[in-house]
Amino acid sequence: MTRSIPGIHHVTAISGPPQPNVDFYTGPLGQRLVKKTVNFDAPDTYHLYYGDRTGSPGTIMTFFPFADAGPGRPGPGMAAAHAYAVPSGGLEAWMARLGDDAIDFDLGERFGQRLLTLRDPDGAAVELVETAGAAGGEALDGFHSVTLWERDPEPTARVLTEIFGYLPQGEEREGATTRLRFVAPGGARGSIVDVIRVEGTHLARPGAGTIHHVAFRAESDAVQLEWREKVLAAGHRVTPPIDRNYFNAIYFREPGGVLFEIATDPPGFAVDEPEDRLGEALKLPPQYEARRAQIERILPPVRPRA
Ligand code: ZN
Repeated sequence: MTRSIPGIHHVTAISGPPQPNVDFYTGPLGQRLVKKTVNFDAPDTYHLYYGDRTGSPGTIMTFFPFADAGPGRPGPGMAAAHAYAVPSGGLEAWMARLGDDAIDFDLGERFGQRLLTLRDPDGAAVELVETAGAAGGEALDGFHSVTLWERDPEPTARVLTEIFGYLPQGEEREGATTRLRFVAPGGARGSIVDVIRVEGTHLARPGAGTIHHVAFRAESDAVQLEWREKVLAAGHRVTPPIDRNYFNAIYFREPGGVLFEIATDPPGFAVDEPEDRLGEALKLPPQYEARRAQIERILPPVRPRA
């Protein structure tokens, strides 16, 4: 049995109209649109996937764009930020680049690493964290971490440590609150989950600019089933594996309320179009092919920034 989850597979968020989202992630952030498909549970909306050239696990940020989504607000029981890794010393180039694009950012430090915090077009927090060992150059090197907001971090911490095999890596004061860090051993991309304790009465409001779920990696279908048994044995309700075309997924809500997914690495995004054409055509799962003409009439055209 695998002893720990290697890290994040993908993060899925809600956005407003698709084109500004595409412009931001393929423009200033330099991500590749690796899949243009529909929400398999609501095929009249897109599901857009961004990542590295092939959409490797640990680099994949995905969005459900709703043209009329009202603005959301992160709160307890929600993932509130996703962070990308950049090489040590890489932030100067990023600050210049973001400045050229007139994108505001804040420079900070967290657990001894410098980071930039910026906002995507829907106000979602995007962080760029200097990470020893991140690939060189000016491109993002996949995920560094995700931050969860919780009223009580303890039950969430138990899922991460007792089920997923993450190790506590200490805590840091952050303003009036505390950030707790958990790390998957093995040093894969996106191996960090931070949990912030949220005080007060404010509530999460799902909508544009909020994260819908966080997906963790399973190397194969067999490993995914082993994780499913562990989640069940710990007393959580979890779905059976669901075919998402590019991976198989199981879902469960961690005790604090964040929707967790465990997604398989295979088969990946080249399963239904060649690697050098990823993201160009609207791809539909077989169950919606018969409705393609109708779906294409509803969806607004989107174009990656060249
Ligand atoms: Zn997902």
